[in-house]
Amino acid sequence: MIVILLGAPGSGKGTQSQRLIKRYGYQYLATGDIFRAEIAQKTELGQKAESYVKSGKLVPDGLVLEMVTGRIQPGGKYLLDGFPRTVDQAHGLSDILRRGGAEVDLVLSLTLPTPEAIRRMTSRRICSKCGEVYNVISRRPKVEGVCDKCGAALIQREDDSTATAERRLMVFELQTHPLVAYYKGEQILREIDASADPDRVEAALAAEIDALKAR
Ligand code: ADP
Ligand code: ZN
Repeated sequence: MIVILLGAPGSGKGTQSQRLIKRYGYQYLATGDIFRAEIAQKTELGQKAESYVKSGKLVPDGLVLEMVTGRIQPGGKYLLDGFPRTVDQAHGLSDILRRGGAEVDLVLSLTLPTPEAIRRMTSRRICSKCGEVYNVISRRPKVEGVCDKCGAALIQREDDSTATAERRLMVFELQTHPLVAYYKGEQILREIDASADPDRVEAALAAEIDALKAR
């Protein structure tokens, strides 16, 4: 079972992924998280990806596919977050899966108007130590600038600054949004309104997964 969660930066993909993996026990593959970890550990891959990630550009497809290949076992149950992000990556993913007789089962696309996406991204803060995600508008910590869970300082992700947030949205429109048409053509795309509150978005996503499982 392979489910892709698609959506502009700021659409709540990360939050919803956490909820869905808890609910369904999927393995979680988030390419953005992997890149950030590799950059922090200064691995070879991290050094190759760093300038792209920090400036809000996409890491080249070849590098992404190389990284993902060893991390997906066809036959496993996966929730993919942030991958594929281009039509070429989608082709690469099909190739990886086909080798194991699998294919993408469902693509859930979170839709959100651009101004709201920018507002959400630039108001996001993360814990510098444990990675917990906060939002200065919708999910404030008990003490300003301090993580509720571990007490460490909250920071803004470098690529959440306004200028870079706008660049990431533009990159999404140009390079990732074409995947909506691509997966519509395969008849496995479902669109979900991401402007609703998180519980309702989760319910809508879960309804699609349940419908798939019932088939
Ligand atoms: P977002 O919050 O924008 O959804 P992610 O955490 O998924 O961001 O990714 C952060 C950054 O990591 C991207 O802006 C990009 O530079 C890089 N990245 C992550 N996944 C991919 C991918 N599949 N292809 C290319 N670049 C990627
Ligand atoms: Zn913390």
